[in-house]
Formats: sequence, structure tokens, C-alpha cells
Amino acid sequence: MIADLPPFQPGSVWLVGAGPGDPGLLTVLALHALGQAEYVVHDALVDDRILALANPHAVVEAMGKRGGAVSPRQDAITHRLIALATAGKKVLRLKGGDPFVFGRGAEEALALAEAGIVFRVVPGISAGIGGLAYAGIPATAKHCNSTLAFVTGHDQGGDIPSGFDWDGLARGAEVIVFYMGLRKVDVLVERLRNAGRKADELVAVVSRAATPKQQVLETTLSGLVAALAAQPMEAPALLVIGGVVGLRAKLNWWQP
Ligand code: SAH
Repeated sequence: MIADLPPFQPGSVWLVGAGPGDPGLLTVLALHALGQAEYVVHDALVDDRILALANPHAVVEAMGKRGGAVSPRQDAITHRLIALATAGKKVLRLKGGDPFVFGRGAEEALALAEAGIVFRVVPGISAGIGGLAYAGIPATAKHCNSTLAFVTGHDQGGDIPSGFDWDGLARGAEVIVFYMGLRKVDVLVERLRNAGRKADELVAVVSRAATPKQQVLETTLSGLVAALAAQPMEAPALLVIGGVVGLRAKLNWWQP
């Protein structure tokens, strides 16, 4: 193990990314934090095999937003983190992927900062990078793309973000990765087509990436809605559009 890992101070909160699923994708700091924390407050995306790595004396609490389902309000989560830290506990806030990528980690960190709580951020492997890699899809490849966009498929109300510059996105990003994009997939396809993306562009849907339940659907932009109707994909899932999807034929290295 690495010497000189930072001590987990009582009364502090560590905002930690758990990666997309496979426990092997935890960082050394994340594993260290799991061993030290007295409270592990995790969101809905964290894999059970990762929670099993928590210190056996730790209290493990599920507190996370889940699209569609009943979930605790964001301020209830931040209040809980602040209350535990104020009580002098070592608090690990564990989130799927990277805490600062579409995971409300920034909001939680801001609330901690405002409350004067000492915190640390431990980045994780975001699903849009590591999850795609487990599906044999590189985020960039030399002859495919020099730009890459991460886009959220819905805003806080569950709608496609309004005021969104679809033309700019369609023109500016050769590869687009949508997080939370499955619910309004018909609208996404329509907006991208209207903004000039081609009907035969390659698309993949990667469901439960880097877990034993990983599933990948390969299709085209115009075929996506019908393909999903024929083969529904479970959340969490990513949608990726662009030439890199074609490399999967040769790079599909992982079988769950
Ligand atoms: N902080 C996370 C993202 C949270 S938003 C990260 O960096 O990965 C939740 C969305 O992330 C899901 O709707 C889905 O689009 C994506 N996601 C997270 N984990 C995933 C996984 N294992 N497989 C596929 N998509 C995943």
C-alpha cells in the first residue's frame, strides 16, 4: 500500500467517487476512505460489492437521488452530512462514477463549504469514460474524434435541458455521451437530427456498465428508438453517438 495516505480526520466529509461499478476501478484513496470512515452515506448507483468493502464497524446509509423513484431531497442529504460531521464523525459520501460529474457533488461540496465543514474530494472514474471502456468503446480515437461532449439528458425536472444549443453541440462535438438520456430518447434523436447529425451515425447504449449485468445495444441514430423498443435497456445507461462506436467490433474486450 502507498505510504502517507492522508488521515481521515474526525468531523470531516470525504466526497468520493466509486467508479462505474467494478470494485477494481476504485482509487487507492477511495479504498483507504472505505476502511477508515465511520459513516458511509452512498447514492443509489454504488455497487453492493463496493459497499461490502466498508469498515465492518461503519454505519452504511443509502441516501441518493434516483430518476423517477422516491428519493430523499438534496437538502436532506446535505443536512445529514453536516450533522454527522458536526457530531465529530468521519463521514464518507460515496457516489457512483466521479462525484463532480452530473452527481450533485458540487452542490454537496458547496453546502459543506458554507457550513464550514472540512472536506476532501476523491475523484472517481466517470461512467462516460470507464463505462464506455468496459463496452469496448474508447472516448477518443485518432481518426474518429478530437472533441468529446458529456451532456445530461435531463434537468432537475426530468426534462431535456431547456435553452440548450443543439446546433452548437451537433456541430462542435464529434462524439457525444449522454448521461441520463434514456427517458427522453425520442426527443434527443429528433433534436440531433434537426441539428444536422446523420441518420446512419453509429450509436451505442451501454447499460449497467462495468457490472455483471452490463448490456450494450449498437444501432444508428435513426434506428435507436425502434431498437430500444425491441430491446429495452435498464438504467443506469449511457448513450454514445459517433464514430468511436464502430471500434467496438474490434475492441470489445470485456465479457461480464
Ligand atoms: N457521477 C456519475 C454520474 C451520475 S448521473 C459518473 O461520473 O458516472 C447518473 C447517470 O450516470 C446515469 O443515468 C447513467 O447515464 C450514468 N451511469 C452511471 N453509472 C453507470 C453505469 N455503471 N453504466 C451506465 N451508465 C452509468
